[in-house]
Amino acid sequence: MSIDLEIAQAASLKRITEIAESVGVPTEDLVPYGWTKAKVPLPVLERIEQERTPGRLVLVTAMSPTPAGEGKTTTSIGLADGLNERNRRRAAAGEPATGNAVLALREPSLGPVFGMKGGAAGGGYAQVVPMEDINLHFTGDFNAIALANNLAAAMLDNHIHHGNSLDVDVRRIHIKRVVDLNDRALRGTTIGLGGLNGGVPREDGFDIVVASEVMAIFCLATSLADLRERLSRIVLAHTRDRKPVTVADIGAAGAMTALLRDALAPNLVQTLEHTPAFIHGGPFANIAHGCNSVLATRAAMALGDWAVTEAGFGADLGAEKFLDIKTQSAGIWPDVVCVVATVRALKYHGGVEKADLETENVEAMLAGMANLEHHLTVLREVYGLTPVVSLNRFPSDTDAEVAAAVAHLREFGVRAVPAEHWAHGGEGALDLADAVIAAAAERESGSGEDRTPRRSYELSDSPEEKLRKIASRIYRAGGVDIPSSVAAKLRRFVAEGYGELPVCVAKTQYSLSSDPSLRGAPEGHTLTVRDVRLSAGAGFIVAICGDIMTMPGLPASPSAERIDVDAEGQITGLF
Ligand code: ADP
Ligand code: MG
Repeated sequence: MSIDLEIAQAASLKRITEIAESVGVPTEDLVPYGWTKAKVPLPVLERIEQERTPGRLVLVTAMSPTPAGEGKTTTSIGLADGLNERNRRRAAAGEPATGNAVLALREPSLGPVFGMKGGAAGGGYAQVVPMEDINLHFTGDFNAIALANNLAAAMLDNHIHHGNSLDVDVRRIHIKRVVDLNDRALRGTTIGLGGLNGGVPREDGFDIVVASEVMAIFCLATSLADLRERLSRIVLAHTRDRKPVTVADIGAAGAMTALLRDALAPNLVQTLEHTPAFIHGGPFANIAHGCNSVLATRAAMALGDWAVTEAGFGADLGAEKFLDIKTQSAGIWPDVVCVVATVRALKYHGGVEKADLETENVEAMLAGMANLEHHLTVLREVYGLTPVVSLNRFPSDTDAEVAAAVAHLREFGVRAVPAEHWAHGGEGALDLADAVIAAAAERESGSGEDRTPRRSYELSDSPEEKLRKIASRIYRAGGVDIPSSVAAKLRRFVAEGYGELPVCVAKTQYSLSSDPSLRGAPEGHTLTVRDVRLSAGAGFIVAICGDIMTMPGLPASPSAERIDVDAEGQITGLF
């Protein structure tokens, strides 16, 4: 059995009502889903937001990762537990409080759970629980999102079947049906084959739920009304004279919002150490912005003196989109950024092959610092933020490597601490918690950088200019290549009134460039934009700069083969 599941199943969970009460939410305000999960209704959150001052926001991001993942989720959980552990110890010693922490994280998709990567509820002694529920369709939000999306698709095909008064061009339909599984057989399909009464035949295909625009919208919406408004704007198709056909045009917005009404309230669970954790929404970090819902982040800020949240992928993708896209609609800005680094990722960027990452190599590790340093410089200079490096310690890291990494980073002028929450829970992240508290204090005392939001581009810049700024400032690219067919599409978006939307770049997370094999801190490369797509409801233009799979497949031996349930209902095989 996997260690993670064993630890999670051995944990003693508190009742969710007790967790909620610990942050001042009375039982009668909750919508419980059993004893260990609950939704906090939006009116309750609104009331609390009015009553209390929001907590400080800590964004957890990472250097460019190795394919194994460097531990952002695990670090977010460990940091929140560490902040709470520090607060408890202060109280016990009669010292001034440092404040409580609440988490906001993405909900895992079933694609990776049944595929190769496994779940996404942290690991070791830094986990959110109940782990099985969180990983296996939880409170049903993703099903609601899939249904809302599929309702729009069904209503569009129905409109065409019943005479197509809008003159939808069946060759220009953008909406795809979705399912939350990796199922490559659905990537390309033909629909409408039932004869005269079976609709209009056309080529189609499915995406995974987390790749849908409805998921991105769900995560950016600030209220039910905003959700409805954004859903209305989704461009489902174009007409034969190239006019957009929206959800509003086919009259689906109300019913879609009705399907999502309950789902939009954030889900509350706990960590192994009973830190309250909101787990809500989970869009792709490439063709979408890759963060949990705005409502979950705001809920964590409302209930915690510290809110800890994660952005997917490395800082060039996750943090960039969090700062350039999510903070715009959410009206938030982080106080501290925690950048996760690992000895193995540093060695990887220093040129070590995957098979040798567990062998001590201080020299290669220091060579790989170029990648981490670039991310730190961007966070400071482009966004004016205060980064803290969490060196997520793996069992194979040697003391010499960890000491050399920390010494190098302190020399570079950044707070850097080894963190051992995976092995020791919140206690292992006390130094990290202290570093975050110190960084926030420095910022508030005015000796840190100024606190007004800064972004990598202006919304008034043209889409091409936005891409050039992201490419040169964040990716160190020498230029952007926009083929004429793509430029024509961008001109059409501008003409349709979408020119002031932010851009959401889909590219590899393994390199600063769009070439996954370029490690370290490559400079002067060209960012080639292969295609652009409009997500009018989510409110961004997607620039596709790599092979992006919106319906993944399963590997030869999927992890689903190893998942089971015993006679008592105990689940095995999750990791
Ligand atoms: P990310 O959020 O960056 O994708 P995760 O936090 O999900 O990364 O971690 C990826 C995997 O690595 C998980 O299986 C997790 O349990 C494992 N992991 C994270 N930190 C450590 C560590 N310090 N030691 C061993 N395994 C770890
Ligand atoms: Mg993660």
